[in-house]
Amino acid sequence: MQYDLIVIGAGAAGMLAAISAARRGCRVLLLEKQERPGTKLRASGGGRCNIANTLSNEKFIARFGRSGKFMIPALREFDHQALIAFFAEIGVACHAPDGFRVFPVTHQADTVADALTTELKRLGVKLTCNTTVQQIECREGAVTAVVTYKGSFSANKVILASGGPGYPSLGADASGYELVAALGHKIEELFPAMLPLNTRETWVSRCRADTVGKVEMRINLPEARKLQASGDLIFTETGIRGPVVLDFAREITPLLKKYGEVPLLINLCKGMNEEQIRNAINRAKQAQPSGSVADILATFMNRPLAGELCKLVNIEPESAFGRLPGQQRDNLIKLLTATPLTVIGHAGFAAAMITRGGVSLKQIKPETLESLLVKGLYFCGEIVDLDGPCGGYNLQ
Ligand SMILES: Cc1cc2nc3c(=O)[nH]c(=O)nc-3n(C[C@H](O)[C@H](O)[C@H](O)COP(=O)(O)OP(=O)(O)OC[C@H]3O[C@@H](n4cnc5c(N)ncnc54)[C@H](O)[C@@H]3O)c2cc1C
Repeated sequence: MQYDLIVIGAGAAGMLAAISAARRGCRVLLLEKQERPGTKLRASGGGRCNIANTLSNEKFIARFGRSGKFMIPALREFDHQALIAFFAEIGVACHAPDGFRVFPVTHQADTVADALTTELKRLGVKLTCNTTVQQIECREGAVTAVVTYKGSFSANKVILASGGPGYPSLGADASGYELVAALGHKIEELFPAMLPLNTRETWVSRCRADTVGKVEMRINLPEARKLQASGDLIFTETGIRGPVVLDFAREITPLLKKYGEVPLLINLCKGMNEEQIRNAINRAKQAQPSGSVADILATFMNRPLAGELCKLVNIEPESAFGRLPGQQRDNLIKLLTATPLTVIGHAGFAAAMITRGGVSLKQIKPETLESLLVKGLYFCGEIVDLDGPCGGYNLQ
């Protein structure tokens, strides 16, 4: 059978691409190496699938950094409203309960994956699972076929939507990058992103499971002076996790590879500066004149965390705040605005929800997502060198 288009990878991106092409009358073959389509999609958002967010295209793009501009033509064609309308058409109603993150109203990722699979079937897309693509064949700079263990399939258009290597437990690997590197494509170095981080400081384990709201985090290295993130942080047995960590990990993992450790400074007091902290302490002292240091700090932070921070500056948490020598009080306030933590490791791609790096944007036409090196070869989804923060950015 001659196909107009072969799509490699039946993840979120590949299924959408196959549906769009089939709706335009193409005969489409969708090849998937796993037993069924949409494995990562079904696990997304903790099984709830945060498929998009409600930001304007401009704000959405800004969250991807400098490379975000690459998406302007794609988002002009298909923004979050188009995505929501598309899902409504295939029977998946969506909503944004917090006004920002868009979910299917069922809050079930399976609803989304099942609806896409049904639509593929309805449109006559030939979905072939358990089929790994080993090679993309070209002649005179144009795609001609793809090769699998089950034989070759011809087509003069191929979309590579094979995703990134994060979460191999969900069947992910880096085979897609090898397919196009073999055709001369540059792969920007791959780093695990969106994952928890391990710290050298072991005191964090004594605060584990505590959520600290609206922390501000920066990297204490001259080359990363401009980088910072804010959001909720959660301490773990071995380090830190939570939305702010997931979002910032993409900046940290490359530096970790370069330096072996990455020093962070974290404001654990909702971004309050020294003066604001002094004012908060004064207010707490008025209410509890004989309060201990832990009592006073506990008015604006978790008590276990307050206790650990006291110990870092050699203060006994149960001592009376009013009796603290001025120097110790200053040290404590300084520490509250910039608590040092040192990232020394992470679980790698095993725990990475997203991959930083991928097929170089310099070799892809933003208007059509076609390769600039090989005619008829297109890319979509996580395989390209674009990655966004938490909040539906990556699936959109
Ligand atoms: C646990 C988890 C939770 C997440 N939650 C969210 C969320 O809530 N919101 C959000 O926006 N993002 C989320 N993400 C990220 C999001 O799921 C991914 O960015 C998205 O799934 C990428 O889609 P994709 O189609 O590009 O790749 P994938 O979904 O990885 O699909 C690629 C497909 O290609 C197949 N494949 C690979 N190589 C070959 C080959 N050689 N031959 C044939 N088939 C091949 C793979 O088996 C796979 O099915 C989450 C990720 C994880 C891991």
